[in-house]
Amino acid sequence: MLQPIVGMELADIQAALGALPAPPSGFRAMQLYDAVYRQRVTALSQISNLPKPLRERLSREFPIGLPVVERRYESSDGTCRYLLKLADGKTVETVWMPAEDGTGRATICISSQVGCAVDCKFCLTALLGLERQLTAGEIVGQVLLAAGTAPVDRLNIVMMGQGEPLLNLANVLKAARLLMDPAGIGLSPRRITLSTAGIVPKIAELGRAPVRPKLAISLNASTEEQRQALMPITRKYHLKDLMEACRAYPLRTWEKLTFEYVLLRGVNDTDADARRVVQLLARLNAKVNLIALNPGPGIPFETPDPARVASFQEIVRRSLPCFIRKPRGLDVYAACGQLKRMGTGALTQIH
Ligand code: SAH
Repeated sequence: MLQPIVGMELADIQAALGALPAPPSGFRAMQLYDAVYRQRVTALSQISNLPKPLRERLSREFPIGLPVVERRYESSDGTCRYLLKLADGKTVETVWMPAEDGTGRATICISSQVGCAVDCKFCLTALLGLERQLTAGEIVGQVLLAAGTAPVDRLNIVMMGQGEPLLNLANVLKAARLLMDPAGIGLSPRRITLSTAGIVPKIAELGRAPVRPKLAISLNASTEEQRQALMPITRKYHLKDLMEACRAYPLRTWEKLTFEYVLLRGVNDTDADARRVVQLLARLNAKVNLIALNPGPGIPFETPDPARVASFQEIVRRSLPCFIRKPRGLDVYAACGQLKRMGTGALTQIH
């Protein structure tokens, strides 16, 4: 069975090369690591500082293992949704969002699982159910594929695609180490954010990891009752315990906790909800991102009017930083809560 290189840490590459008859040296493992993660080559034949016979041999023994683009959907706002095919034929989605201010910055939204088990009532991915975990290599591969040759200091990564990252924590943490290794891909920890529906015991575990992304919590409701109705998984992980875990979370000096809040018309978007959100977050070093619902077929909620969203923001903003997140790629089902491999009908399909 051929082992893909993407997903291997340096020690894994050393071990894999060591298993070959007459293994190449540890220096070769470093060259391979550097080529795949720092130079982002897409074929081993491009590693020009390896002797040709070795290059040919490695090409036979080790696939790089990047996901394959099955389809690419391009939005009128420049956002691209990729439908990526994995080695076993399963598909997963990754979204490339170029900033609209001409700075050349971009955000890549990656998936952590195929489908999702969390079952939030406003999210299309929930309708897929959980198909399987992604490996560390499949998580890193999404970044390498979408980033191409874009400079690393222009990129932000959000683990907000399909799946619940804290229910695949070991693989997510291995992927985070690979993404942040200064000798490899080299992303700053300030540029990677993991978003969770609130898997309470795993929040503490994440906090203990020496190399970890920033943490965002999908709050989405202002009372326990509302939250349990919208996000069934929170019947197991209660709001009170979530807030406790947030207070105990070891923030780094430069870090704030982000809370995301999907606004659903007439459900959780009143001024009273906004005041309760402020109370919930009172003793935390936090900021809030508001997201007006992105609608989808089968989702039984409506988007609030912009004036309602503004009023909600105004109340929260008196106490803590509060931003309205602009939806990206709505026309190609690339926005938050829309990743369900939609692809036919009204969509513009670019190959
Ligand atoms: N499972 C993780 C990451 C995926 S969801 C989590 O729950 O955080 C990423 C974000 O999209 C979450 O904040 C979620 O609340 C939001 N979201 C889900 N469905 C949405 C929809 N239909 N419209 C707007 N935001 C949505």
